[in-house]
Amino acid sequence: MNRISQIRILLLDDDTFMLKLLTKMLANLGYTEVITCDNGSDALKKLDQPDTCPDLILLDLNMPDMDGIEFVRYLVDRNYHGTLILVSGEDERMLRTAEKLVHAHKIPMPGYLHKPVDPDKLSEILQRWEAETLAQPLQTSKKNYSAAEIQAAINRKELVNYYQPKVSVATGEVIGVETLVRWHHPQDGLVMPERFIHTAEKNNLIDGLTRLVLKQAIAQAGKWHRDGLSLRVSINVTMENLASLDFQDMVFDLVNEHNLPPQKIVIEITESQVMGSDARAPLEILTRLRLKRFHLSIDDFGTGHSSLAQLRDIPFNELKIDQGFVHRAWTDDTLRAMYDASLAVGKQLGMDIVAEGVEDRNDWELLRQTGCDMAQGNFISYPLAADELPRWMAEWKIRVQAGL
Ligand code: C2E
Ligand code: MG
Ligand code: MG
Repeated sequence: MNRISQIRILLLDDDTFMLKLLTKMLANLGYTEVITCDNGSDALKKLDQPDTCPDLILLDLNMPDMDGIEFVRYLVDRNYHGTLILVSGEDERMLRTAEKLVHAHKIPMPGYLHKPVDPDKLSEILQRWEAETLAQPLQTSKKNYSAAEIQAAINRKELVNYYQPKVSVATGEVIGVETLVRWHHPQDGLVMPERFIHTAEKNNLIDGLTRLVLKQAIAQAGKWHRDGLSLRVSINVTMENLASLDFQDMVFDLVNEHNLPPQKIVIEITESQVMGSDARAPLEILTRLRLKRFHLSIDDFGTGHSSLAQLRDIPFNELKIDQGFVHRAWTDDTLRAMYDASLAVGKQLGMDIVAEGVEDRNDWELLRQTGCDMAQGNFISYPLAADELPRWMAEWKIRVQAGL
């Protein structure tokens, strides 16, 4: 059975000659399921249809209407699960920067191609990709759940909060935890949020989901507070949540019910979402939350497009540098530039800076040397079930005392 012929490839390039050429090269390598598009909007339509959604996209960076970088953002919005190869006539540096951006969005990218495309290079990248990805059966890693399944999971309260610690870089003190939702699926086991948050957002289920996450998180925060653990509890919220003005009432009611000071609750919003939508209702809600002394945090900073002015207008207390610009920034100049710039912007605006994705000692050392306020990541702790936290805190204290 030839699996290559089952792989669906989408070519997106404004140059129709290029489309023909690449189609021919792919056919020579045995890839016959190829769809071509000469503009981004057509390609997005293909992505939205299950029978034309590709396993792999070859994407031109330079296109007149929607350029390649913008197209990547739409891929992220759609929770694209396939692979991407960039093709461009731009110089090496430009391609490498674009590759970093794609990695930051967690889209697998086995390589990039310079124009004019060398057939041997194309073949080499595809072979590497096949060896890595096609070792697993096609489709299995792609399962996205339907809106009905997610609704049922919310109703049955199968969504469970995990909590990932956030610590002070200077002192090691545990400042708080970020709430990360998981689905305890009766058949599939532990399901990560990336497999259902997007569908929940698109199908008006995110309010129900967030309500459940918030209720559990604030109840847990109240319990820790009564036990003498002074932790700030962060909760991820999407722009859809901030479209209805009763959101803040729900949050106010919950903290009152659990006798919790509002400053112990941090609302995290991702940067791309903040900048992307009509910001009036969200701005009102965010400002009111801030007036009540809740903390606001801008999440995944560095992956969206924002200006200093936009950042200034929203009263954030905290900026989280995206993990794509933290891990290995100590050894990679491009990552380091993004890390430094994010840190500088945040500091200049008086925000607390949190670096996400701190995976090893080298990452931690960079934060220490550069004066980053807080760290979060697997080096410190994986996300934990609530009852694992006290034991982890005891272990962490020993690590800090021993110099980590
Ligand atoms: P996020 O808010 O940026 O959360 C950080 C993600 O990075 C988490 O993934 C966390 O497990 C992961 N992570 C932590 N440390 C490391 C590390 O050292 N290395 C690496 N590679 N990854 C690390 P997770 O739990 O899969 O969540 C993914 C995203 O799903 C979150 O990104 C957040 O945007 C969203 N999400 C999670 N829970 C909720 C929720 O309750 N509501 C909403 N709306 N979104 C949520
Ligand atoms: Mg977050
Ligand atoms: Mg983040």
